[in-house]
Amino acid sequence: MAKITDAVDPGNAGGSVLIPEIPTLPNRPVTFHCDKCGEVFTEREARRQHVFDHHPFKRPQLLVGSRMVKERGEVMASQFLPADWIIQQAERIVIDQQDVSSQEACRRLSKIISGFHEVTLTSADYSVTYQIEFDIPTEAQLLAVEKAFNMLIVNQPLESERIAQFITVAKREDGGRYYIEGISDFLYGVLAKDQRGGTSLNRDDYTAKFHAAREALHFMDRPLANLIKALVNFNDNAFSEAEILAPGGQVAITCRILNGLRSGKHCPPLETRTASGHNLPVDTLTAEIMRFCSLPLAEQQEQLPQLAHLASKSLTTEHDRVKIQALAMNTCWEAGDHEPAVSWARMLRHSPLFETLANRIIEDVEND
Ligand SMILES: [Zn+2]
Repeated sequence: MAKITDAVDPGNAGGSVLIPEIPTLPNRPVTFHCDKCGEVFTEREARRQHVFDHHPFKRPQLLVGSRMVKERGEVMASQFLPADWIIQQAERIVIDQQDVSSQEACRRLSKIISGFHEVTLTSADYSVTYQIEFDIPTEAQLLAVEKAFNMLIVNQPLESERIAQFITVAKREDGGRYYIEGISDFLYGVLAKDQRGGTSLNRDDYTAKFHAAREALHFMDRPLANLIKALVNFNDNAFSEAEILAPGGQVAITCRILNGLRSGKHCPPLETRTASGHNLPVDTLTAEIMRFCSLPLAEQQEQLPQLAHLASKSLTTEHDRVKIQALAMNTCWEAGDHEPAVSWARMLRHSPLFETLANRIIEDVEND
């Protein structure tokens, strides 16, 4: 490499001073150091990946009831014990401008029942502030909502007007706002899915309504709230989640059967017909699927054409269509009608839920 001049020629004036030799670097490849552990990388991307894998940011976290608390827009609508609140990776905890210990923080969070509160968790690398609204209704307020529900919704024809009336009556008690919202969103979703009861919503709006209902009720542990969440999961074909939330009754029976089919087991129908176990209004397809599941085999065979007809209707959702196809496949198989069982199985060959059983039935028949 060329040497840089070690003397400056001032031209024709004055003298000159010697500049100490500027060390010249050999043409080394550019490298990237990890400033946490000093490891050297030849590419920036490799260092980024290394930092990501080996020195993760310790981001503080707030959890309640094993769910991560949202930083914005979280609403606590049920009370939790101090042990249900978990604070992770925080070196400093501030609740409403007051420094508290971790134990004190959990104790305090379990006691707040109303208002907006701010929780800031700080670690070496991070600071996270949660703005949480507490709106925890009293038992009397929750009972008032359920009373309005029993009076206006249970065993009544479901209509938009009636849901509006339920909201008005339930709100008189001033509390349980999220309970009311969860119940009414679910009911509006039922009407949207069925396109009945004077709904102004489109058929496809039902999913948003169902999911809003599940979200509004997510912290609520009451039979009605759990049943609604179970039905929303059932609609999404999340059978295990639905079964946990609805441990008894028709929803549970149906989930158990569909869960069995999903895990690749044939499912013998019930010996005897079971009665409907709940009075929560549901959409027509859900009602038909649950009714079919509660029948003994002979009656299932008899009613299969009606159920199969629903599978071909254009308004039937994709989630409901695969449930119907799986039940039809199972009924035919259990009844020994292997040909129709195989044609149902062919429709489910690529269904992520029921492909195991479908492919087994196809193979069984082909190998005979
Ligand atoms: Zn490193």
